[in-house]
Amino acid sequence: AAGQPDELAAGEVKTADGQPVTLLCNVASAAETRLGLSGGAAGVGLLRTEIAFTTAADWPSLDDHLAQLTPILGLLAGRPAVVRLLDFSGDKVPPFLASRGRQGLDALLDDQRALRAQLTGILRAGRGTQVSVLVPMVRSLAEVAAVRAALAEAAAAEGIAAPKLGIMVEVAATAANAAAFAQVADFFSIGTNDLSSDVLGLDRAGQAATPAVTADPRVLALVRDVARAAMAAGIPVSVCGDAAADPLVLPLLLGVGITSLSVGAARVPGIARQIADTDTTTARAQANEVTGLWPPACAQPSADRTTPPRP
Ligand code: PEP
Ligand code: MG
Repeated sequence: AAGQPDELAAGEVKTADGQPVTLLCNVASAAETRLGLSGGAAGVGLLRTEIAFTTAADWPSLDDHLAQLTPILGLLAGRPAVVRLLDFSGDKVPPFLASRGRQGLDALLDDQRALRAQLTGILRAGRGTQVSVLVPMVRSLAEVAAVRAALAEAAAAEGIAAPKLGIMVEVAATAANAAAFAQVADFFSIGTNDLSSDVLGLDRAGQAATPAVTADPRVLALVRDVARAAMAAGIPVSVCGDAAADPLVLPLLLGVGITSLSVGAARVPGIARQIADTDTTTARAQANEVTGLWPPACAQPSADRTTPPRP
């Protein structure tokens, strides 16, 4: 029947009511990339480059980046390949950075040679793909400007046009200011793993931060607002956090207007089937119901609370 994923082009899934959804996969290796593509993904929506280097003794060299990227991007001819810059943050800090003061994106921006090596590796290995660069853990407009300048330089040195530059929206303050970030980014990728933890004050490594917490009305409303800000600015937005592959959260994401998802490579066929079974009108109603739950009526200020208490 129409709407079955196996009758559509790779990664082109339609909801039960015919709305197109782009389905990509999250990978860190060539094996995962093969798995995701054979499951029907349109391409790679998140390449986590740091996974290969979490025990590294120093910044990866250009050769290290090429050795990592060439086997993966070689599988993606003509397809989307969203390569994220090294995200050495949280529980992914390699030994050589652990003793230094700065980690994550800060550390990468501090070391322009390290940044240039990775950008050049991405540009060379990404030839022949629809490659784009994704910046993790973005907190400021200045960070995006710094990466864009470095990308322009690296591309000029390679004699090619700079590819698109997107940002992870996974810090609460960045999500809350999405309209401003949409002016400097070519696309958004919403990282619900870190975003949900940040919004709700959860320890991501702790048991409380499951993909299901993205269904909290405070998180879901923020995802909706980020999606609206992207659409208002005319830039693409997708969700790449694990919530996109959670059967209870997926319809809510579709319901707040998300039309592009990147999920773990092994999850692609199952998620394609669930999208094909989802009616977006129902999903929108469910999402509205959830986002309407906050703030709860009991937490709204009432008239008598405006009178100061008597001493
Ligand atoms: C996220 O935070 O949702 C995300 C996709 O990035 P990672 O899981 O690699 O931190
Ligand atoms: Mg993250």
